[in-house]
Formats: sequence, structure tokens, C-alpha cells
Amino acid sequence: MRIFALLAAFLAAMAMSTPTFADGHLKIVDEPLELTVHMHHKRYPAYDENWPVEQEARRLTNIHLKNATIGSNTTNSGEAMNLLLASGSIPDIVGTSRIKDVVNQYGPQGAFMPLNDLIDEHAPHITAFFEKFPDIKSAMTAADGNIYYIPYLPDGKYGRAYFIRHDWLDKLGLEVPQSVDEVKSVLEAFRDQDPNGNGQQDEVPYFARQWEELIRLVTLWDGRSSGSDTYHDFYVDNGTIRHPYAGEGYREGIKNLAQWYAEGLIDPEVFTRGSSAREYLLSENLGGMTHDWFASTSGYNTTLQGKIDGFVFKAFAPPASISGARIEEHRRIPVKPDGWAIGGANSHPVETIKYFDFWFSPEGRNVVNFGVEGVHWEMQDGKAIFTDVILGSGRPVNSQLYEIGAQLHARGYYQDYGYEIQWSNSYALEGIALYDEGDYLIDQFLGVAFNEEEQAVYDKHWTSVRTYMLERQQVWILGGGDVEAEWDDYLADLDKMGLNKVLEAMQSAYNRQYGS
Ligand code: CA
Repeated sequence: MRIFALLAAFLAAMAMSTPTFADGHLKIVDEPLELTVHMHHKRYPAYDENWPVEQEARRLTNIHLKNATIGSNTTNSGEAMNLLLASGSIPDIVGTSRIKDVVNQYGPQGAFMPLNDLIDEHAPHITAFFEKFPDIKSAMTAADGNIYYIPYLPDGKYGRAYFIRHDWLDKLGLEVPQSVDEVKSVLEAFRDQDPNGNGQQDEVPYFARQWEELIRLVTLWDGRSSGSDTYHDFYVDNGTIRHPYAGEGYREGIKNLAQWYAEGLIDPEVFTRGSSAREYLLSENLGGMTHDWFASTSGYNTTLQGKIDGFVFKAFAPPASISGARIEEHRRIPVKPDGWAIGGANSHPVETIKYFDFWFSPEGRNVVNFGVEGVHWEMQDGKAIFTDVILGSGRPVNSQLYEIGAQLHARGYYQDYGYEIQWSNSYALEGIALYDEGDYLIDQFLGVAFNEEEQAVYDKHWTSVRTYMLERQQVWILGGGDVEAEWDDYLADLDKMGLNKVLEAMQSAYNRQYGS
């Protein structure tokens, strides 16, 4: 029922009818207009004019993007950007991962065009988006009040969730844990009672592909591990910028996680096992619980149920913390620092912003999310539904979409979660429905744009503060120190190293950007 309700709500939202226009209504210019583009991302270090999505956009708008990417021989977009800036010649359009800091720094100097007036006058779909999501507009705005890029805007709220071996719970006669104490009891049972049935105490009760997902568990003691989808990020507490690793809940959480680690409830190799941890520990029938992405983690039910008898690895609701709070700290961020901008020397800014706006129109949004109508998808009841060309190939859907030039994060566009729900399995949909019902997500910190003075404070202090925090964190978890005994000294060290100056700079930027 839950799955059905989620799907029904989703389909209803999707079904808002699109008005029909005479063919050609999306044409921006009568004669084809060529615009040069630098597009660089680790997945595609150049713009491919043969991408079906580019060809379709040409047909619909008459704007032709011509590849002018510099640095295509490196997969490092930052390096490519440095080469581009050093060349002194900026193409009409520049799209790359992490473009936000680049344009906010070089836009005010003239390398990129301010977009505010162009958007107001020529981009009705982008304007409508901003009206719907004013915080996103604030997040995109530079310290001088201008907007210099159109971002990649992810859709869908849910990212990671708590997952546990339901078949192991059943086997040991245990319920899904509802609180931090129950989680501990379950992990102890996984450690001691041989749920994989091989006669050895070889189970790894809690594991994580990213060791930061161990630190995430401090939320069970009312601590925080990050304020955004970036690890170790600042967070906003009622309008005040704080850092998670200076909070009392964090201290309490680290103290307990060190205990769990010492007791063998955490993967002893959690800091070193790396990204293959999930694949290895699940397929070897060893891993009990983790915190990871809905869709990809649910996918192990499809791949392992034929290999491991009874295997069921399902999402469960965030356990209640020591104060009774159930939160899911991770969610998709609604605006990324990736996207595209208009070069300062572009002689067709109006056509270019109209082109940017095309991707936010209902038709353009379908092209950028799903590919070419009639080939990669078909319209059914007002919704774009993938054809067998995409769904029938057995290959990961996102990879196929990148290959045709869809879902490129170096292009400014608004993602449509419909693209993902069509290939999420029933376990993922059930888990998302569970999280939706409980409303466990919390607000996110969308980042700030520093002025020069704030940037200087941040650059001077932040790296060393962060390095010191992470060093202490790992030492405490591994039992090389006592977080409670050392806490006051730790806070004094952070202050000496400049944490409070960084927090002041962040606060001043935050107040300017979002209103104090
Ligand atoms: Ca065993």
C-alpha cells in the first residue's frame, strides 16, 4: 500500500498537463546559431556534438553548441578550469563540476556574466523555479549579490538510509531495532549468535563503504556529523552556524562509538576497507547493518537472493536517539555547485540565457532527464517513460544516460526524480515510503558565498582545523585517547587554531545571503 501511495502521489504530480504548442515554438533563433562551450566533468572531459541530446536540442532550439573544451586530456575539472582561465579566452558557455566557486571569484572581475537581469527578462522557466524555491536562489547568489551560474538541481529528497539483514533478525528471533539501545543489542547478537550459520563468529555487525558513515551514528546520541550532503560540513542551528565536531552530542556519540568499536560491533577495518566494503561484506554473507543509498543498496536483494539463502537487506526507520529523536541526517541536496555559466565575452547573452531556460521548460526538461522522445522514452499519460532501449539493456541506467548526453551535471538543469523511480526496485520504493511516512529528514545547510575578507579567514584556518578534528576523531574511535577527558583541551585547541574565526566568517556570509 505504501509503495502504491508513493507512486500514486508521484504520478499525480507528474501528470500536470503540458500545453500543446505548434511545432517550432521552442526555436530561439530563426537561423542556426553556434555557441562555443567548455564542458568538463570527470565522466565527460569534453562536449560531444554527437550526443543525441545535443542533436535534439539543436532541432528544437536552433542553437548549436560547438565543443571548445580546454584540458580534455585530464579528468580533473579543476585543472582544466585553470588551463581555461590561463588561456585568457572564455567560450560563450562554460560548464563544469564545482563551477560555483570559480564564477563567484572570477565573475565580479568580468570573466563571467551576471545573470540576474537576463533571467528576469528572458528566462520565464528559471524565474518560476526561483519563485518556487527562494532558498535555492539565495544559495546560488555570490557575495556581490549577482548570480553567475545556473546549477544542476537534483530532484528527490532521499539519499541514504539505515539497512539491516532482516533475515538475520528473523533467524535470531529479534525485532527491527527502534532505539540506540536496541541497535546495540542487535549488533551484539549478530556478533555472538552466528546468524550466517557457518559455525564461526565471523559476522561484521556494522560496516560502511565510507568510514564517515560510522561517524554518522553520532546522531543516535543527538550529535551531528554534517549539515549537508558533503561530509564534515557545517550546519545551521536556528540561524547560527556551528560545526558538528564541536558539539556535546558529538562528544557523547564518539565516546559510545569507541566503546562499540572496542566491543567488536563495528567493522575493525572500517577506516581502511574502502568503497568495496558493501559489495564484499554482503556477498560474503558477513555484513549485518549499514547506512547507505536507497537504490543501490536495495539492489543487493536482486543480485544476492539467488546466492545467499533467505537474504533480505532492507531499510529500517532511523532508530530513536537517547533523547528520543528519530532523524535521517543525509538527504539529497537541492542545489549543487556544478552547472554552467555565460562567458564574459559572449556576444549573444540573450540567446544564451533563452537556451539555458529551454532546459527548464517541460520539453527541455524531458530531453535533459530522459533523452530523445520516441527513442529513449515515450510519453504515456503525460509522463516520460523509458523505452526498452534504456530499461531493457541490463546496463546501469545513469551510465546510459550520460552516454547520450542526458543527466550531465555540468549542464544547468532541474532533475526529474521520475527518471530514477522507474528503475528503483521494490525494496528501495518500500524503504523510501517508510522514510516518507516518518518524515525523518532535517533541514540542510546550502552553503555560503564568501566575500574576499571572509574567504581569507577561511583559507588561513580551515584546512588545519579540519585535519586536526579528523585526526582526533579517528584516534578516539580506535581507543588511542579518551574523548571525555580530553574534550576541554580539544575545544581550546580548536579555538587556538581558528575555528571560532572561521565560524564568524561563515556566520557573516550566511547572514548576508539568507538574511540574519
Ligand atoms: Ca558466522
